[in-house]
Amino acid sequence: MASGVADTHCPYCALQCAMTVTAAPEAALPGPAATIAGRFFPTNRGGLCKKGWTSAELLGSAERLTSPLRRRADGGFDEISWHEALDEIAEKLRRSRAEHGADSVGVFGGGGLTNEKSYLLGKFARVALGTSRIDYNGRYCMSSAAAAGNRAFGVDRGLPFPVTDLDDADTILILGSNVAETMPPFIGHLEGARAAGGLIVVDPRVSATARLTHDGGGMHLQPTPGSDLVLLLGLIHIVIAEGLVDEKYVAERTVGAAGLARSVSQWWPERVQEHTGVPAWELRSVARRLAASNGSYILTGRGVEQHVDGTDTATAAINLALLLGLPGTGRSGYGTLTGQGNGQGGREHGQKADQLPGYRKITDPEARAHVARVWGIDPDSLPGAGLPAVQLLASLGQPDGVRCLLVHGSNLVISSPDVAAVRAGIERLDLLVVCDFFFTETASLADLVLPVTQWAEEEGTMTSLEGRVLRRRAALAPPNGVRDELWILSELARRLEAPSTFSDRPEEVFEELRLASEGGLADYSGISYEALDRGEEAYWPYPRGSAGTPRLFLDRFAHPDGLARIVPVRPSAKAEPLHQGGALTLITGRLLEHYQSGAQTRRVDELQSAQPEARVQLHPATASRLGIEDGGWIELETARGTARGRAAVTGDIRQDTVFMPFHFPGDQTANLLTLSATDPISGMPEFKTAAVHVRPIPEA
Ligand code: SF4
Repeated sequence: MASGVADTHCPYCALQCAMTVTAAPEAALPGPAATIAGRFFPTNRGGLCKKGWTSAELLGSAERLTSPLRRRADGGFDEISWHEALDEIAEKLRRSRAEHGADSVGVFGGGGLTNEKSYLLGKFARVALGTSRIDYNGRYCMSSAAAAGNRAFGVDRGLPFPVTDLDDADTILILGSNVAETMPPFIGHLEGARAAGGLIVVDPRVSATARLTHDGGGMHLQPTPGSDLVLLLGLIHIVIAEGLVDEKYVAERTVGAAGLARSVSQWWPERVQEHTGVPAWELRSVARRLAASNGSYILTGRGVEQHVDGTDTATAAINLALLLGLPGTGRSGYGTLTGQGNGQGGREHGQKADQLPGYRKITDPEARAHVARVWGIDPDSLPGAGLPAVQLLASLGQPDGVRCLLVHGSNLVISSPDVAAVRAGIERLDLLVVCDFFFTETASLADLVLPVTQWAEEEGTMTSLEGRVLRRRAALAPPNGVRDELWILSELARRLEAPSTFSDRPEEVFEELRLASEGGLADYSGISYEALDRGEEAYWPYPRGSAGTPRLFLDRFAHPDGLARIVPVRPSAKAEPLHQGGALTLITGRLLEHYQSGAQTRRVDELQSAQPEARVQLHPATASRLGIEDGGWIELETARGTARGRAAVTGDIRQDTVFMPFHFPGDQTANLLTLSATDPISGMPEFKTAAVHVRPIPEA
């Protein structure tokens, strides 16, 4: 029920900054639908970035969808009733299942959906549709770090400690994350390390975060893109060679260290310098600083994880942390910085191809039995593991592939790797249904588009990057004609005669989620809306009758023997050869003003006018060699295709590297250029390196 004023959290990233949304009085309309005020919370301390401050503009946007749409034969769209839309979708899904089997229907979710929606979507796929073909865009975001965390610690929670623990650290090593742009209030937690000269940033660019290390704040290491694993192996080599290993910790809290020395023996600092471009003295200095510090944290982000060796790279970062005795001490640790608003909760409740609620493996008979009991179905009727996102999308319209796709909260044709191939797959589908609040680039390809509520119009929960469950609250009613995804799923489930109940009430769905998660790694069974509304700090695991867990691993890791795994890793072949035939290396990433595919932020005037187009960073020497002028248009070409952008000539980037933001549509879509090759363990695509040729083109 919308209250007019709601204490809630930002609609965008995983920092989930606290804000108060106040609905505009009727008399003030038309005009902004609401106002936003920052609210004190430990993660943001009242601060918001410009995305958060301007987020109210999304609510009253003239571009909101307010009626279901059906594509006409001429490519246009007609408004239709909800009744008509849902009947038609149910009928087509039923027919596809009957003619081509349950796996002919696929579901693609999003890391911005609430826990309740994520949970119900997973249940809907497995129970109402009977399909194994469900995955979500978190596969593009957290899958490598999650796989590495599960392998090393037995569980994956992005930060296994509260963000505020970072305040007391005097050394923080951040690899592949530009938090100063992606989550600006977070940098307040880096101040202690910075003041102590111990902020160390690894990034091929002089990013806004790297700039924080200037003037005595710490060090910036600027490696060749894609060489992060070698850099980490070099740091491990130094730690071992210089006797910096915390031997007591390694003996008491880990297994697997024996094989590590041999696996890094060839990565002495000067050799690592040759491969990464990072001076050997910098590597030694970083290793010594991490080892000598009283409070050291190692944090990874997508820059080092979105590679075909992303799981092994995150594993190397964890190995380094374990050798130094950091995780599970309460004053130091390893963590990964989740990006999407509910990237953490989204992967805990069943949207992932291989998981059931509570972070349970879908192949585990006990997990299947537990969840089937909660759902009131036969465990044997539950499908098995499905396909990770890239493989799921590669199957679109193929014989034995997915023929009907339901998309929730994801703008696939901007955010997927090699988007031209994804678009071709979508065009082969028998049915594409997109649930969104705007007519996104993916919605424009749909057969049916269903308009859904936004964050300040709905109740639910989100789980932040520190594993804390938060309440999302409604301040205002949605526009007429807009529906909540829980309602859509329950209506479709009813039409499909699903053999279980599908509530459309968030608190009821959460109560069921609690039961389904009980006993799992991500156990929410002790959490309730009431406790959250009282302000309880609900970090999972939070078993019934117990308390939450702000800090994991203080006594033991989550493997049955309580020990962390040190897993030796080695560099593998790149997804495609870089540096051949004069190619530069393309890296992609985010800007302060935009979020993910830009579907929301490109519709906010202040954000869009500040960053209206894809500005592609190039070094002055590279630009001069290629005849490119600052501000001129350029074409970028890889083996997948071409894209266009405006040159931003800057000394903030390596000469061999080009940076393109990935928020833009049309021929400025960075993912026209990226590869769909994936990490064999996590399914993460290689977003972060591609061999690219760049040339000037006439003004568009
Ligand atoms: Fe929102 Fe993230 Fe900005 Fe905070 S940092 S206001 S959560 S986008």
